[in-house]
Amino acid sequence: MAAVRFELLQRCPHTLARRGRLHTAHGTVETPVFMPVGTQATVKTMAPWELAELGCQILLANTYHLHLRPGEDVVAAAGGLHSLMAWNGAILTDSGGFQVFSLADLRKVTDDGVEFRSHLDGRPLFFTPERVMAIENALGADIIMAFDECPPYPSSREYVEASLRRTLAWAKRCLAAHQRPAEQALFGIVQGGEHRDLRQQAVAALVELDFPGYALGGLSVGEPKPLMYEILEWTTPLLPADKPRYLMGVGSPDDLLEGVQRGIDMFDCVLPTRVARNGTVFTSRGKLVVRNAQYARDFRPLDEECQCRVCQTFTRAYIRHLIHTGEVLGIRLTTYHNVHFLLNMMEQVRQAICAGQFLQYKQEFYEKYGYNEGESRRGEGVLR
Ligand SMILES: [Zn+2]
Repeated sequence: MAAVRFELLQRCPHTLARRGRLHTAHGTVETPVFMPVGTQATVKTMAPWELAELGCQILLANTYHLHLRPGEDVVAAAGGLHSLMAWNGAILTDSGGFQVFSLADLRKVTDDGVEFRSHLDGRPLFFTPERVMAIENALGADIIMAFDECPPYPSSREYVEASLRRTLAWAKRCLAAHQRPAEQALFGIVQGGEHRDLRQQAVAALVELDFPGYALGGLSVGEPKPLMYEILEWTTPLLPADKPRYLMGVGSPDDLLEGVQRGIDMFDCVLPTRVARNGTVFTSRGKLVVRNAQYARDFRPLDEECQCRVCQTFTRAYIRHLIHTGEVLGIRLTTYHNVHFLLNMMEQVRQAICAGQFLQYKQEFYEKYGYNEGESRRGEGVLR
């Protein structure tokens, strides 16, 4: 019995977009899906019942952070992540690779693993594929990710090649070390930078290992957006159609739409929750910085078209006041609205795919939201 089962329901007649269903032991996930990020086993400021109320079916937690605090032994003693955080929906844990390479004080990368120092207290740590699998097995998420190396952009081709060779060897070792394949689905991660042949090589090697799902890594790490879209165009069609495809670290509304169009089923990003804590919200008419003084006497909701409880209840003026005075309710409300915005957008995307109207939906969305390449927000995609 596999830990997850992917059901492909419908394909868009005009693009690579697909409508599917991912069955897990903690419920069914309708795809394409956006997964809110709960770095420390909490989607910052949100109670699990609020996430459930918004229709969230799966969220992400970070292996590296949970290993540091509270430690996987504490999580396991609590009965696993679901039980610790009182979340009955599905959970995906990343492998910590991204954080190790971007956050920690890196000491040494060898074929065996990575030596680094904790970003919290500087204590030395050593991650190998086997170690990371043991941590993820103890955390107990429904979907776990293989330990990979995420090379920065730009990197020399030589470096990307060497790094890919390591990542592919580590993928094999992760499979061999994974102790709970019947309960946790291990996804492989396609690296290869911006090199088409390396991406192809990565897909071929991983598909041969027959993972229950595949992620595209090393994207949204500073490369221009058109390049990311091009890499998706080369890569997703090579992946098996009957397995879910996950684009890691991507979550701006335009990137979600462009990713769906290119055949991606799953996304995650800290973007909606992080910008919310800065007083920025997504609306159907584009981004709005509600903490700005111009909203001090604006008694309209954050988004006049939004059906969420925040928009049905509160005004921009009130939320602006809360954020301005540092009241915690302010960032709770902006977070709630932003998570609703992306989950609701993906619900509409799924409906549009079913109706054969995905491109139409995308165009209408952009017309209102105000998409332009110039506002392409490099940097935001790096947040994770
Ligand atoms: Zn709202």
